[in-house]
Parts: sequence; structure tokens; C-alpha cells
Amino acid sequence: MRNYFNKIMSVKDNLNKIKSELPKSVTLVAVSKTKPNEDILNAYEAGQRVFGENKVQEMVQKWEDLPKDIEWHMIGHLQRNKVKYMAEFVSLIHGVDSPRLLKEINKQAKKHDRIIPCLLQIHIAEEDTKFGLDEKELYELMDSDIFKAMENINIKGLMGMATFTDDKDQVRKEFARLKSVFDALKSKLPHISVLSMGMSGDYTIAIEEGSTMVRIGSSIFGSRNYS
Ligand SMILES: *Cc1c(COP(=O)(O)O)cnc(C)c1O
Repeated sequence: MRNYFNKIMSVKDNLNKIKSELPKSVTLVAVSKTKPNEDILNAYEAGQRVFGENKVQEMVQKWEDLPKDIEWHMIGHLQRNKVKYMAEFVSLIHGVDSPRLLKEINKQAKKHDRIIPCLLQIHIAEEDTKFGLDEKELYELMDSDIFKAMENINIKGLMGMATFTDDKDQVRKEFARLKSVFDALKSKLPHISVLSMGMSGDYTIAIEEGSTMVRIGSSIFGSRNYS
């Protein structure tokens, strides 16, 4: 009982502490992947409404079980054959990194008579394990006829992940680069407004470099256990 109580308090305390530190202009996505519904409800009771998941099936299950005013963000790498399961309700897809994926999202959005908001993922990290478009691919995509014909997609901005390293200068440099890609794109597409960058370990740097949306998991819910 005591541990249970402590756990509830810690999710709410962690969340409130982070929220009190974020500028008003920055949206907090509480990353609840692998975490049970009760943890999400604790955050919900503390006022949090935006949650991020990286597996489609898990997100669908949570959407079915939990309050319907939660906004679900898909933050993980997305397979095209999974888009149909979440097209009805997903609020924002962060990791769009190919024309074929965009085409599928557009098709599924149309079926549900929706416009699905998306972010294009840009590759900024040194590691080649992280997904995303480079700048050349970004502009090829934006200029393509396929892209211009997509009526059920709303590109809201960009997303990126920095290298997982203790070298803060490198992380800062990567975020600054993403911000400059964002600014260049904004001069072509003035309506874009979302720059999703920053996680538990690097969100303060990301905000200093111009992030408008941070994706924070372990600093709210504790470390994840994948076993
Ligand atoms: C898991 C994940 C996060 C959150 O990571 P934490 O370090 O727990 O804050 C953010 N973004 C993406 C894309 C993730 O997969």
C-alpha cells in the first residue's frame, strides 16, 4: 500500500515539476510506452492530456481503455501496415520518414474522413540506427506531385532525435541544425509550427535551441522495464 501511494505521488510530482519548468509555449508529450493504464491515469488526474506511444497495438489498447479526451501521439517508427489501426483517432504522427508511409496515412485518413496531422522526421544523429530524412530527401518530398496531391494530411512541422551521448555540445549542435532546417522549411510553408525535439535526458538543451514540443517518458513515469 505504501509503495503504491508513493508511486502515484511520484508520477504526479514528476509531472508537475517538469510542467513548472517548461515555457508556456512548449507542449509536453508524456511518453507512456510500456507503462500500465494506472500510471497514465495518475498523470491524467494531474491534468495531462497528451500521451506518446511507440507501438500501434499498445496505443490502440490504451485508447480503448482510457478517457476519450486523451490525445494520442505516435512517436515511434511506424510500419505502413499498422497505420489503419490508429487512423481513426491518432492526434499526431511524429515519425513520418518516407513518401510511401505518407501515402498510406493519407489513404487511411481519407477512409475515416479525417485530416491527420503529421511531423516529418529528420535524421540529425550520428548513429545510423535512428530513422529520418536528410535535407535533400525532405525537399524532394515536399516538391513531389504525390505530396502536393495529399488532401488528408496536415504537415505540422518536424521531429528529430539527437545522438545518445553525454557530449552536450554535440547534442546542442544537432538540435541547432534541426532548428535551422525547420526555419528554412517555415519560409516555404509558413503554417508549420511544431518542432518536436527533446527527451528526458536532453529536453532542456532542446528548448534552448527552439523546441516547441518535448517527448518525456522516464523522467515522469520512471525507467522502463522491457523484460
Ligand atoms: C521513448 C521515447 C521518448 C522518451 O524517452 P525518455 O528518455 O524516457 O524520456 C521520446 N521520443 C521517442 C521517439 C521515444 O521512442
